[in-house]
Amino acid sequence: MFGYNAHGKVDIMDYNKLADLLFSHIDKTPADYDSVYPKRELGEEAKVTRFAPSPTGFLHIGGLFAALISERIAHQSGGKFILRIEDTDKKREVENGVERILEGLLGFGIKIDEGFTDFDVQTGDYGPYKQSERAEIYQCFAKELVKKGMAYPCFCTEDELSAIREVQEAEKLLPGYWGKFAKCRDLSFDEIKEKIDSGLPYVLRLKSPGSEDRKVSFKDGIRGKIEMPENIVDVVILKSDGIPTYHFAHVVDDYLMGTTNVIRGDEWISSIPIHLQMFYMLGLKAPKYAHIAPIMKEDDGGKRKISKRKDPEAAVTYYDEEGYPADGVIEYLLNLANYNFEDFRKANKNAHWSEFKLEMNKMSNSGALFDLVKLNDICKNKIASYTSEKVYDLACEWAKKYDKELFTLLTRDKDFSVAMFGFDRNPDKPRKDIGKWNEVRNAFSFMFDELFDGKYDEVENVSKEDAKKMLELYKDMYDENADNSAWFDTLKDLAEKVGFAREVKEYKKNPEAFPGHVGDVSNVLRVAVTGRTKSPDLCSIMKTLGKDKVIERIDRAINALAI
Ligand code: GLU
Repeated sequence: MFGYNAHGKVDIMDYNKLADLLFSHIDKTPADYDSVYPKRELGEEAKVTRFAPSPTGFLHIGGLFAALISERIAHQSGGKFILRIEDTDKKREVENGVERILEGLLGFGIKIDEGFTDFDVQTGDYGPYKQSERAEIYQCFAKELVKKGMAYPCFCTEDELSAIREVQEAEKLLPGYWGKFAKCRDLSFDEIKEKIDSGLPYVLRLKSPGSEDRKVSFKDGIRGKIEMPENIVDVVILKSDGIPTYHFAHVVDDYLMGTTNVIRGDEWISSIPIHLQMFYMLGLKAPKYAHIAPIMKEDDGGKRKISKRKDPEAAVTYYDEEGYPADGVIEYLLNLANYNFEDFRKANKNAHWSEFKLEMNKMSNSGALFDLVKLNDICKNKIASYTSEKVYDLACEWAKKYDKELFTLLTRDKDFSVAMFGFDRNPDKPRKDIGKWNEVRNAFSFMFDELFDGKYDEVENVSKEDAKKMLELYKDMYDENADNSAWFDTLKDLAEKVGFAREVKEYKKNPEAFPGHVGDVSNVLRVAVTGRTKSPDLCSIMKTLGKDKVIERIDRAINALAI
């Protein structure tokens, strides 16, 4: 085979010999891996997708979003969803990086079929699923490129590379190692050998066949057809330690793992010409791509990307800490992905979110706007749809981690707490007062003496004297076994006794005749028992608190009114 050497002379280059020089330890060929990782036997429509994060910190809400979309596309087509760890950049890796990602995904109920399926557990026939454990595989594919004359070692130093950069900047040229700047492209075998023998470090570069005047196009699953200039840069495929760059690892892994659809953040669109070129040079079929726009946030009237630095809600741990129910968060994200999720939810009140058919072409390509108010709304609806037992379990699970005092109070008497969570939980029109578990403490503080401040705030329209009289009379009238309607009849009787109207209607017809009506009476009682003017069904609250406690609270209010 012929090539031009650095001095412009035609040189005979035996690429096989070069490949052996660079990769003497690799004796496999890419074809060998085809039998190690055979084609998947899945239905024709089945899609294989993956989430491929780097373990560089907490899981970002955008990461959870991308993982959810990938998981849905796989599972709703009868395919597989993989979690692959891309840890080729050891400098950026953080301790427990993989655990943090897994905790995030599993905590939100994302079902992973393959790859890291649990802490320290790799499942599946296409592993290892951590890139740092696949070095030899990448080197085998790199060797193949060298054999074909499509990759070469580059010995340029940092200084030489910055000198190139300076020239390119001054001449406003495309940055990177290409064309006349790609000095090491033409080294002869002997020159290469001499440098290697003298211990010079080197990287392996792709010998790009791209041309400035050609375009590459592909159909993005979200954005449709995209056309870009071909890649002409001889990008690095293996770093000097033999570890691949992201680009090369992506191509090799997604080929061997049988990924059919790569769904990832849109910061990768600009790398598509490199990726397609690599698939082409290796003679491999490229997967389909879809690029997700980042989640945006309203800021000062404008829109910006949700940011790790500025927004606490960028980290998925935030949702756990605040106590948003996991399926509420997932439903919110599905809602961000496809506007018609809301219609699905209305039409299928009790369906699991996985029954919704997500469509990639319905996703925004400018970035969906994140809205905590909407998230809270969705979570309120979600919690309202749970049974009291489920609310109890989830609230306790959260409190155990984040509010020890609340946990102790909730678990002191399970039946009491379950009954409490059952207030107004009727299936037709459930009360929607909690959207996250950290709201439980305040929403139900009146149920626990430890949280109840026992204040009696005066009730509008009712004089202190009347209020006191009502409460004193009521103490003898309260029957804790009365059902809801008998309980209310007692209040009507009480209203009458103190000269208030039995019915609101009656009062409205003739407001001058009464100081108030039965509603005011119930307000007095509500404030005495719960310390607030709005509460869930008072009759249920009183039954759950028990007669002694109710009387104690009434006495407390009477005392407060006496001052
Ligand atoms: N490791 C890349 C990242 O952290 C993955 C990109 C991809 O999904 O291909 O974003």
